[in-house]
Amino acid sequence: MSHFIPDKLPAHIRHYIDGGHADSVGGETFDVLDPVSNGNYATAAAGQKADVDRAVDAATRAFRDGPWPRLKNRERARVLNRIADAIEAREDRLAELETFDTGLPITQARGQAQRAAENFRFFADLVVAQLDDAMKVPGAQLNYVNRKPVGVAGLITPWNTPFMLESWKLAPALASGCTVVLKPAEFTPLSASLWAGIFEEAGLPRGVFNLVNGLGEEAGDALVKHPGVPLISFTGETTTGQAIFANAAPNLKGLSMELGGKSPCVVFADADLDAAIDSALFGVFSLNGERCTAGSRILVERGIYEEFCERYAARARNIVVGAPHDPATEVGALVHPEHYAKVMRYVDLGKSEGRLLAGGGRPPGLDTGNYVAPTVFADVAPDARIFQEEIFGPVVAITPFEDDAGALALANGVKYGLAAYVWTNDLVRAHTFAQGLEAGMVWLNSHNVRDLRTPFGGVKASGLGHEGGFRSLDFYTDQQAVHITLGTVHTPRFGAGPSG
Ligand code: NAD
Repeated sequence: MSHFIPDKLPAHIRHYIDGGHADSVGGETFDVLDPVSNGNYATAAAGQKADVDRAVDAATRAFRDGPWPRLKNRERARVLNRIADAIEAREDRLAELETFDTGLPITQARGQAQRAAENFRFFADLVVAQLDDAMKVPGAQLNYVNRKPVGVAGLITPWNTPFMLESWKLAPALASGCTVVLKPAEFTPLSASLWAGIFEEAGLPRGVFNLVNGLGEEAGDALVKHPGVPLISFTGETTTGQAIFANAAPNLKGLSMELGGKSPCVVFADADLDAAIDSALFGVFSLNGERCTAGSRILVERGIYEEFCERYAARARNIVVGAPHDPATEVGALVHPEHYAKVMRYVDLGKSEGRLLAGGGRPPGLDTGNYVAPTVFADVAPDARIFQEEIFGPVVAITPFEDDAGALALANGVKYGLAAYVWTNDLVRAHTFAQGLEAGMVWLNSHNVRDLRTPFGGVKASGLGHEGGFRSLDFYTDQQAVHITLGTVHTPRFGAGPSG
């Protein structure tokens, strides 16, 4: 199939600061590749400290002097709904650009565009439904809480499902009345270039949304260290999160961190095996395996282990790998040659750490582009690197277990704690097992479906804090407690003397 190039592809991607498109002050740029040809399809402005300063200045002015933080929640919600309309109107274009830039299969990229619109509608509804706490305390005291947007929010996002993950931060930040500076991932700046038009069409006031492209260690670092940015919402690798944590410490910033994962999918012998296999395939091979919640370790009870491995591997060998824009494609091209090389190193390592059942390299017939055949290793020991480390590609490790306690020890035996999946028809076991899991999110007899009101986040090395529902709104607002005495004030009378 020929290499698909979207119409009107920009040759140069710029920042968006204070309502206008801009290049870096010093003219710095970086090259952007597409994952099928690995050719440079564009340059992008490479933001430096001076560019971040300009963006933060604009966001600060919009916060201090502009209407956005002062609007009623209902008024901001109207703009958020118009943003959702503008995203929906661009669904085809968004899916096309995202597929071209990330290598995600087009059918899955379309779903991400729809979810981005849903995120704005969801937070529009939620911010209107939000009730401020007010407490009448015995003794004629009234306490209530003033919610105030924190200020300029710094949003730093990764390259997997970039547009959707940007929306996941932008929607609650804007709903809360913050102004923002977004630093999208340098591998995939294309879809983010649509935000400016979306926000202009929806009537978001100038300066509320600012975008600085660039490398993490330049633009990202400057945003994290900027004293005028009181909070950073970050999604990305655990090691990057650790660096951001340290760099944000001198200014004591509010931090939300959604980090890496190595999530277990635990299959008991009493499970509905057909459903478990479907889910365990989807869990690691959808989104090219470039999914933070990927069920990349499958733990299978000994009695069904061989049958599971055989059936699972047969299905994995049958997955359609191919051109991302082909609607029949189930696994596309990995995002970037550097990431491809990293995943391939794990594939090679896996051949000495496990029994190769499917894949193991480049799929036949796809000689160029970042394609990896869905790869399945069985009999992987718990101390193997492919069991312990996040690969972030279409590679899975299968390991047997003997009993519930053994399964739990394996499931929890990594540094991460993002998600877990459990398959069993014994509901008491399912709930008991869930309680023992060191994971921020557990799916029982279910795959990655999630109501937006529920918390999203990990424990251990997978993150700090939770996003989702009111938790997201809490992150972007300061909650000021106000106390007032109703009626007579009885303050202890210091300094009034013995007769006082
Ligand atoms: P990454 O950490 O390399 O980069 C993420 C973002 O951080 C990019 O915008 C990058 O430019 C920026 N960055 C890099 N160094 C920085 C620094 N020193 N200071 C400030 N910003 C910096 O991550 P990635 O490779 O883009 O994304 C993949 C990772 O993201 C995986 O580990 C995946 O599990 C994780 N992820 C987690 C979730 C979640 O919700 N837990 C969701 C998606 C992805």
